[in-house]
Amino acid sequence: MRPSALLLLALAAGACARPVLYYPEPLGAPAPAPATPAATTTQAPVATQEGVAASSASASAAGMAELRTRHIILPVADVSGPIDDSFDAERDDGERTHHAIDILAPRGTPILSADDGRVLRMSSNTLGGITMYTIDPDGQLVYYYAHMDHYNPEMSAGRSIVKGDTLGFVGTTGNAPPNTPHLHFQVMRMPADGKYWQGEPINPFTLLVEARMARDSVMAARTEAAHNH
Ligand SMILES: [Zn+2]
Repeated sequence: MRPSALLLLALAAGACARPVLYYPEPLGAPAPAPATPAATTTQAPVATQEGVAASSASASAAGMAELRTRHIILPVADVSGPIDDSFDAERDDGERTHHAIDILAPRGTPILSADDGRVLRMSSNTLGGITMYTIDPDGQLVYYYAHMDHYNPEMSAGRSIVKGDTLGFVGTTGNAPPNTPHLHFQVMRMPADGKYWQGEPINPFTLLVEARMARDSVMAARTEAAHNH
């Protein structure tokens, strides 16, 4: 195939890129240890090693239960339209699963911390663009925010945060389509090995929808109160 044809193919593939993505792999993060057969076995018999060999299903349920106790808030100050559950969506022609929720919002909309805790890392990469990792106060849940237009200049790694703090602003950095600003929001359990960017993903979709309904009802109540004055 001629080089020009290859280039055209590459351009066509880029143009077809869906509004998202990938697993976050921060630049400069320590290289993962080589996988061992034990680590790659997905159907390890339950209870061969007490406390270790839980099925992935029960691990997911435990992660979800943990996340539910955090009462996360909607991590954007404004939303464009409905929030879709894109957690199980395929990415890169089925090479990957999204394992995150994309929340469409106007460019420049404040990105709000979904939970209390602290900032783990602020860095840029080709897929996620301008990104931030944060962790909950118990050190059990990791949150990943990607495609930021820019950070809140008040933020820095290690800083303590509370729900609703502005982390940054919605944009299209990384591989987000230029005309589809959105927040790529991902939740993971902190793994035992401390490699927070590789933790087991948790689907926050249901909790985000609940958080949005809660916020909307508060806003409606405020509007009504203002009218009655
Ligand atoms: Zn995404």
